[in-house]
This record gives sequence, C-alpha cells and structure tokens, in this order.
Amino acid sequence: MRVCVLGAGIVGLATAWALNRAGHEVTVIDRARPGSGASGGNGAQLSYSYVQPLADPGIWAQLPKLLLSPTSPLKIRPQLDVHQWLWGLKFLAACNTHTSRNTTAALLQLAAESRMAFDTMRQQENIACDFSSTGKLVLYPDAASFAGARRQMLLQRELGSVQEAVTANRCVELEPALAQRHAHIAGAIYTPGECAADCQKTCDALLAALRAKGVKFLLDTPVNKLVLRGKQVVAISTPEGEIEADRYVMALGSASATMARSLGVYLPIYPLKGYSITVDLDGPAQAAPTISITDTARKVVFARLGSRLRVAGMAELAGYDTRIAHKQIASLQASTQQMFPGCSGFADVHPWAGLRPATPTGLPVIGKHPKGPDNLLFNTGHGALGFTLAFGSAQRITRMLEATQLQPTRPWPHKPRPAGSSAQTP
Ligand SMILES: Cc1cc2nc3c(=O)[nH]c(=O)nc-3n(C[C@H](O)[C@H](O)[C@H](O)COP(=O)(O)OP(=O)(O)OC[C@H]3O[C@@H](n4cnc5c(N)ncnc54)[C@H](O)[C@@H]3O)c2cc1C
Repeated sequence: MRVCVLGAGIVGLATAWALNRAGHEVTVIDRARPGSGASGGNGAQLSYSYVQPLADPGIWAQLPKLLLSPTSPLKIRPQLDVHQWLWGLKFLAACNTHTSRNTTAALLQLAAESRMAFDTMRQQENIACDFSSTGKLVLYPDAASFAGARRQMLLQRELGSVQEAVTANRCVELEPALAQRHAHIAGAIYTPGECAADCQKTCDALLAALRAKGVKFLLDTPVNKLVLRGKQVVAISTPEGEIEADRYVMALGSASATMARSLGVYLPIYPLKGYSITVDLDGPAQAAPTISITDTARKVVFARLGSRLRVAGMAELAGYDTRIAHKQIASLQASTQQMFPGCSGFADVHPWAGLRPATPTGLPVIGKHPKGPDNLLFNTGHGALGFTLAFGSAQRITRMLEATQLQPTRPWPHKPRPAGSSAQTP
C-alpha cells in the first residue's frame, strides 16, 4: 500500500519505520529538517513507567501558586484564540481522579508497547542515540508532595509498574551527584527500568536508515492542504506538486489541530511550550548524574546523554511562538548549577524551545476520526511523552491501516465537543 506520512518529528519517523517494516511504500513530507519541531531538543526521557498526566486532581491545590508565582514553571499567556480557552477548560475538567487514573492506565499500556518497539528498532537499525537504561529518580521537596507521589506509585504498581519509594540517603547512594542536595530531598520515587536517549540523534539515524530502505522524504516541503474528493483524501498539495497515496497519516505535532480544522475535524490539541539546555560536560565525571532526575520542586528533568547533560522544563500555554526566552534558559542554568554544583561546561550551553502537542487529558490522538476522511489516520497529540510513546503509537497505526476498511477509533478518545458541553471523555 502507498502511505504518505505528514510530519517528520519522532512520531512521523516512527510511523514511517513501522509502515516500511510492514512492507508498505512510504513517503514522508516535512516543511523542515526531521526532528526540528518539538522532538529534537526534548527532555530525552523514555519515561515508560512515569506517565502521570499533567491533568491531575492535585493541580487544584497548586493552581494559585502555579499561576501567580513569578518562578512558576507553568505560565499562561492569554491569546485571542478561542482554542486556547477551550483547551484550558477541558484541561481543568480532566483534573479529576477518575480521568487521571484512566489516562495513567492507558498510557502505561501504550508505553509498554512502545518500549518493545523502540528496543526492536534500536537493535535492527543499530542506531547511535546516546541510549542509557540507568533508571530515574523523581525527587520531592516536602512530606506532602512525597505522600501524594507514594499514592500514585501504589496506583501504578497495581497497573504493573516497578517503582519504589526511597529516602534521601538512598537517593545519594543511587546517584552520588545528588550529595549536595541531600537536605532538600524529602523522598523520591525510584524507577529502575527508565531509559534516556537523544531524540534528535534518533531522528537523524532513522532518516538515514529509512532512506537506505527506499522510504522517500520530501523535506523543506510544506503541506499546503489535503485534497479531498468526497470522503477520501486523494492527494497532498505541496509547492512541489501533488503527492498521491492510498492512505495518509497526519503526524504534524502542534500543527495538526489547524490542519485538521481545514478538514472539518476538531482535535483538542494546543501547544504547551517548553525549553531545554544541553551542557557539554567537561568537569569531573561524578559531578553530573548518570541516572535521570526529575526535580518536582522546579519541574525540571535532567538526562545524561554521553558526555552531555540535557536539562528540560517549563510549560507555557502561550500560542505558537517558538522564540527562545533568555529568562527561561537562565532559569534552567540556575537549576542545574543548584542541583549539580560540580558540573562545569556552562560556557557552552545549547538552548532550545519546542511546542508539546498537548491534549487536555494527556492521551494522544491515534486513529481515524469519525468525521474525518475515510483514508486518513491521525497520530498526534503526544504532549510531554512523544518520544516515549512514538513507537507504540506507530505500531497501532500500522495495525489500523492494514484493516481493509479503516474503522473510526471507537470510542473516539477525544470526542468533538458537542454544543453546550464542556466535558471530555478520556
Ligand atoms: C521541553 C520539552 C521536553 C520534552 N521532554 C520529553 C521527554 O523527556 N520525553 C518524551 O517522551 N517526550 C518529551 N517531550 C515531548 C515530545 O518531544 C513531543 O511529544 C514529540 O516531540 C512530538 O513529536 P511529533 O512528531 O508529534 O511532533 P514534532 O516533533 O513537532 O513534529 C511535527 C513535524 O511536523 C512538521 N510540520 C508541521 N506543519 C507542517 C506543514 N504544514 N507541512 C509540513 N510539515 C509540517 C514540523 O516541521 C515537524 O517536523 C518534550 C517536549 C518538550 C517541548
């Protein structure tokens, strides 16, 4: 079957890999370089067990501080955009125990599929992506937040996750680079099976491997529109001409929502901007962590990528602006220096910003939309977990696409909002 994948972020590339492996003739279109959207400089976490959605009931208690504190990692810049407000309302509606629990269960299942598919891909393609499987420590600064984390851990244990609650002493035993933070750690959740890798290197290696297998790439080629005949997409219109296929997969990250609206399809996706820095480590090796660390006090993640440290964080509901704000980069640098004072290399910091394609619940949008064209599948809206989930969702898309006739995903996980309703089923 001829399949055209729109978007060469990690989700589009993983989809192209899975489709090519299943024997399909694949063309990938992107307006830029693969990985240059939300994927390249992300937090590098393959967070297979730690999937708790941002839409958590605990957000209500934290909301005043998150919205009002000048140092808050969450920022809302109201736009003249009804979709931003709708997204915000749906997000708040999703901040309840029932939705959060269902989302966690669904994400854990997808993450487990993704881990297997990513490992298969790494072995088959033998890609160099600074992969490590040293585990992850999520640090909590006070007893109350640690108690909440232990409750989430018990829920995740019921769902099959292997995690343990550990003391500050144990944190330092596991990760000696934390020695100077001991007094600031009330406790942590340790997940030994978590992994990390460089997403840009993964994208670059996939591009090379897929090209070698005959996958066609049209890069620096924007998708202008999808050409429809009745309920079928018949071609993709680009400045290079029209590209025809039998089936199409939309993996345009944050741009998916706007493109879908041109087809009369509403996707509840809005960009959640984040930042990262990458520090070249040239100090003593033990000064930088080898285990992935999440500092929940500042909502910052640290991942070791060979001789570099990736530091990522912040969530701004602020539209589609991808400019890098110096203040946010300085804040990530300050967090790194406080956490790991022995790290050097700060003269050589690589700043980055990206737009997470976020849904209110945290569940990605995978499948055919009930109101969409019959031969179009969506694979988008992976939010803060796109690298983690990309290969699992690519497997699902491949299975759906091979059905003789594409069936709408039922129940559609992100129902188009009926007039007068604010509820969204997870
Ligand atoms: C700060 C930050 C930290 C993160 N940390 C992690 C992490 O640690 N672990 C994790 O799993 N996830 C993480 N994520 C999330 C993850 O990076 C995203 O979910 C993932 O990159 C989304 O991939 P994507 O392929 O859907 O989108 P993108 O990477 O944005 O790809 C979409 C592609 O579509 C192309 N495109 C858009 N419009 C058009 C058009 N009209 N024509 C042609 N091409 C078009 C773009 O050029 C782009 O290449 C993080 C994100 C951020 C911002």
